[in-house]
Formats: sequence, structure tokens, C-alpha cells
Amino acid sequence: MSITPVIAIHGGAGTILRASMNPKLEADYRRALQDVLRAGAALLAGGASALDAVTEAVRLLEECALFNAGKGAVYTDAGTHEMDACVMDGATLAAGAVAGVTRVRNPVLAARAVMAHSGHVLMIGPAAQEFVARHGVELVAPDWFATPERHAQWLRARQQAGTGSGAVLLDHDAASLAAPLDPDSKFGTVGAVALDAHGHLAAATSTGGVTNKRVGRVGDSPIVGAGCYANHLVAVSTTGTGEMFMRAVTAHDVCALMEYAGLSLQAATQRVIMDKLPHIGGRGGLIAVDAQGQVALPFNTEGMYRGYARVGGEPVCAIYGADNADPSTAMLGPS
Ligand code: ASP
Repeated sequence: MSITPVIAIHGGAGTILRASMNPKLEADYRRALQDVLRAGAALLAGGASALDAVTEAVRLLEECALFNAGKGAVYTDAGTHEMDACVMDGATLAAGAVAGVTRVRNPVLAARAVMAHSGHVLMIGPAAQEFVARHGVELVAPDWFATPERHAQWLRARQQAGTGSGAVLLDHDAASLAAPLDPDSKFGTVGAVALDAHGHLAAATSTGGVTNKRVGRVGDSPIVGAGCYANHLVAVSTTGTGEMFMRAVTAHDVCALMEYAGLSLQAATQRVIMDKLPHIGGRGGLIAVDAQGQVALPFNTEGMYRGYARVGGEPVCAIYGADNADPSTAMLGPS
């Protein structure tokens, strides 16, 4: 049986309301998602591995200031940027991750360097930066990640949710604090999952974290099994309230429900996102692709930037929950 490679991506979940979205911004988001999907699918069509496809898709999303990863990352409570990323190869279970990096232009490339060269899985802070720089990963000045829109979002979050540490916000929810939703807001932890022509799966996730987080806080995104996981059955990348996703070990939970309980991809992802996470107050979503090339993109928030592309097909993108009313996007979220 021949395999049709497929890639899926997300750009974060949260309070994303159609009524509050400015048409130009919405078009920008859709174009960005489509461009990244096309690039990822082209790599897969050319025989690239799932690992290389998800790494490149996430690198492109990091370069796009619309999303909360790399350029455009959200602010900590000290007005700085601390980024986390993870990559995992389902074929070998090799994984690499970085947390709390402040100068790595593309944290997903740092995660790849940790995976390839360190013999470890997770490295943090300045030592991680020095290590990956020795392996050719580009460092930039800490203010390279700043954008005026993110700064305004941070100030608004502090003002409206209470100043100081402890008032942390999902990026998209921070946007919703402005009434109506700030049309200039730029948000979204990013991730990619893929199945390649060899039947191998891979996942990658990258984030600036949650707005106004404490300096030193690390969420689920760089934690293997929580924010990112891939094995021979399924690849998963998550976005949402990281503390809950860590407690629920969300990405691996999808794998476990499929492997040990025999659930389908759709059943496993629905159980985790619509049942288990809400039970502990977890908000967000995930993207997943299984070894048969099925795709699931469920979320329990108002929206999630998301899409997928099969080699030989057109990219399919969606933002809001209501996008699922369109039969062509029936796979794109909660039913
Ligand atoms: N899960 C991320 C974190 O907790 C945030 C997000 O997905 O928007 O750092």
C-alpha cells in the first residue's frame, strides 16, 4: 500500500472570534498557514523525512511574527522573551528540546541540534544557547524578538489581569482582554506533525509561552510527552494552558489511548481534548497525524489556527470553531 505523505500545523489556540477579527489580519493568517503547509508538503513530495518537514514548517512559523514563537514571541513579567521548543522523530524516538532560550533565532533548530549532537534530550538557558551556537545555530540580540504589538498586548494583559507575576494568559486570551478583540494582536504557539513516504512520523512544537509568565517558567511545549510526542503510531503537537497539558501528559496520552486502549485517532484526541483536559481546567487543542495518514485537529477553545496538506492536494486551513460547518473542513476540529 502506497503512503500519501501529509503535514498538519497549528498556530495556537484560544479566544479567536470571527466577529472581532479584522479581514486583512484574517487573510494574513490564512495565507501564512497555507504558505507553510505548501512548503512542508513540497518537502515531503520531494522525499524529505517527516522530521525535516516538521522542523522546516516550525522554522517558517517562527519566522512569521504573526505567531507566538521566535520573532513575535510573547513577553515575560520582566518584559523579556524566553522561548521553548521540542522536536521528536517517531521512527527512532529520538528527541531534542530547549527551554528558556533568549537569543536563539529559531528555537526549533536549537532543539534539532540538541537532538543531533548533545546526547541529551533537554537543555536550558545560556548553556543551551552556547552549545547550539557551536553547532551552527544562529543567535540574535534579545530584542530581536520584540514587536510593538506584543508589547502593547503585554501592557494590556498586566493592566487588565492585574500587574505582576501570577497573572498569566494564553496568548489568544490575552488578545481577548481588549474589547473588542484587539485587531492588531499577534499570537500563537506553533507546531507541526507529519507522515512521510516511508511511513515515519515526527512532531515539533515551539513557543514564547504564555503572556506575562514568570521569568524561568517553562510550559508543556518543550516537554516530551506533554507538548510534543511522536512514535510509530502517531505524532502530536499541542497548544494551550501548559500547566494542565503537563499534568495530563497530553501528547503521550493520545499515543497511550491508541496503543493500549485501541482507540482510533479521532476517539483518542477527542477524549483528551474534550473530556480529560476540561476536567482539570485545561484549555487548548492539538494536531495529530497517525501512521495511516489520518489527521485530527481538535480544540476546546473558540478557535485554533490550524490546517493540513496532503502531497498532491491543496492545503486546508481553518481558524474558528464554526469553520467546521464547511464539510471540506470537517476534520478540522470539534464536532
Ligand atoms: N502551551 C504553551 C505554554 O504553556 C502556550 C500556548 O500553547 O499558547 O507555554
